[in-house]
Amino acid sequence: MSPEPGTPAPTAYRHDIVPEPRFIVDRMLGTLTRYLRFMGYDTTSANTLEEGNAKEDTLLLELGLQEHRLLLTRDAELARRGKDRAIFIQSEDVMEQVQQLIETGLIKRRVTMSRCSLCNTVVREAFQCEISGADYAPKDWRGLSFFWCESCGKLYWNGSHGKKLEERIGGK
Ligand SMILES: [Zn+2]
Repeated sequence: MSPEPGTPAPTAYRHDIVPEPRFIVDRMLGTLTRYLRFMGYDTTSANTLEEGNAKEDTLLLELGLQEHRLLLTRDAELARRGKDRAIFIQSEDVMEQVQQLIETGLIKRRVTMSRCSLCNTVVREAFQCEISGADYAPKDWRGLSFFWCESCGKLYWNGSHGKKLEERIGGK
């Protein structure tokens, strides 16, 4: 994907994570995790780790390093430990969190619907049988594109999640 003209170049972050950043996100940022996936960003969550690990903070830093993921956290101390590989998320509000990342130049204002919001798997175009087999799918398919997560067996479509999210992310 070519950068949009006028997009400010990020300066503070390492080059290997600038073109298409990947994220690892702490337990307090579950909603942001889902938003980032709808926006097409490869995002793993601490929520998939076993609970009760006293050294989870260290584990998150290590995973971030190993997998070239930037750590997003509401924990100022953890962000400080992560140095330039971590970002302290200031707000509790998810739209302000998204806005912070946009203003930092890390992510683009876009909705791609290219990843499953539950598990981060890249979704593919859905087959007709998958659409008709999902009782939560709209009955009228006109103008909609359907996507399928093979991992969760979950159907997505633009025009519902997609549109609303686009309105929230894209415009005021
Ligand atoms: Zn999934």
